[in-house]
Amino acid sequence: MSGENGYDGYRGPALAKLQEYEAMVWSDVTVATTKGEFAGLILPRNEMADPEHIVLKMITGYNVGLHVGGIEAITIHGRKVANYKIPEKEFPFTEGLPRVKLLGTGGTIASRLDYRTGAVIPAFSPGELYGSVPELADICNLETEKLYGVFSENMGHEQWIGLAEAIGKEIAKGVDGIVVGHGTDTMHHTAAALSFMVQDSPVPIVMVGSQRSSDRPSSDAAINLINATRTAATSDMAEVMVCMFGPTSDQYGLLHQGTRVRKMHSSYRSTFRTLSDIPLGMVDVAGVTPFKDDYNPRRDDTDVKINAVFDDRVSLVYYYPGMKPDIVDSLVDNGYRGIVIAGTGLGHVNRPLYAALDRAHAAGVAMYMTVQTLWGFVQMFVYETGREIMELGVTPAANMLPEVAYVKLGWALGQTSDLDEVKRIMLTPISRDITEREPHNGYLVLQGGIPEVEAFMSGQWK
Ligand code: ASP
Repeated sequence: MSGENGYDGYRGPALAKLQEYEAMVWSDVTVATTKGEFAGLILPRNEMADPEHIVLKMITGYNVGLHVGGIEAITIHGRKVANYKIPEKEFPFTEGLPRVKLLGTGGTIASRLDYRTGAVIPAFSPGELYGSVPELADICNLETEKLYGVFSENMGHEQWIGLAEAIGKEIAKGVDGIVVGHGTDTMHHTAAALSFMVQDSPVPIVMVGSQRSSDRPSSDAAINLINATRTAATSDMAEVMVCMFGPTSDQYGLLHQGTRVRKMHSSYRSTFRTLSDIPLGMVDVAGVTPFKDDYNPRRDDTDVKINAVFDDRVSLVYYYPGMKPDIVDSLVDNGYRGIVIAGTGLGHVNRPLYAALDRAHAAGVAMYMTVQTLWGFVQMFVYETGREIMELGVTPAANMLPEVAYVKLGWALGQTSDLDEVKRIMLTPISRDITEREPHNGYLVLQGGIPEVEAFMSGQWK
């Protein structure tokens, strides 16, 4: 436990300033600065952080770093030593409630912050979860397992395979639903990987994360976890889904198909959107409401197809004007077997790349085109450029999202080296990764959330 030894983590000028006013960590203070007054609790400082700032947790829950050079006076009102520990309460077992397994991989949802070291501590035992989100016990009998404890940029094909296999084992044991706790940044990559590696699941597989950590008043951790757990426990949709904040308020969560979802905003809580389609459904306190009826329904058996393979010699190349052919050549020279291109407009790259694409094709590299517009289909018959690029061996990947095509190509090449078979796998729709058409309301309509849509409809947004 930190916070009891006075000036925890502070060094140099920041420590000197605190000592001058005998303002210890966890003191409730008002700090007069050249930029005005700030009131809050002095937080412990990460030992690795610079020695020139004092950090306050303000009444709003947000932290502010005050440079010692601008501090004119510190007035102490009292001191509160914080308790980091989440109360551990035994997760109750309730006869008759569904059995849900929560598999943790890390990310903000699984963490609380140790202010002193800056370390993120996982909070994932059923006891801790029950202590912090007791509503979960009204929904299900929860079991938890921490598979990984990483921020999601560190989730890659090895973890996708481990996760898919762990899900297979849980389904075989007869759970009623699976929740996967995951960092939000790459949740859509993992959702795509699970959509391919785990097929025909008899139960819902629901990925969930949070954009704001649970020490912040605006955290979405608890609401997302409750929504995801309710979906896993009760939904009839036995799909790989992402369950995250729907509107900007916390009225409901949206359920996105694992292959059609993408993180679209770096900081909004309502950051996940279904692209080129409508979400699968929504979830709130009243339960899950599907928006579609052609989903895989829940079954009573424990059969599932796990095909957890991946060849990581695959790359996703985001085309930009002026890209030089050496980018493609270097991939071929380094033994890459697959390239997904996110091209401009309907699926284009510049002429200087043509020779490099030709060389890649001759070397047996599987190449697929997606669009960097994200919404819409690749259409390579419209312009001469598209037709020429197809002749160089690049296959249009319909309306597959670039990241999804990248994951699918690694998965396909993990199964076979026969490029015709790879093409068959790539172009066979799996869990809506390719759809026949974009519905009229598939372009963000109704995904702003009810308050925004209502304001829009009543003409308040001009
Ligand atoms: N950087 C974190 C992650 O993706 C953010 C989050 O969890 O939302 O792991």
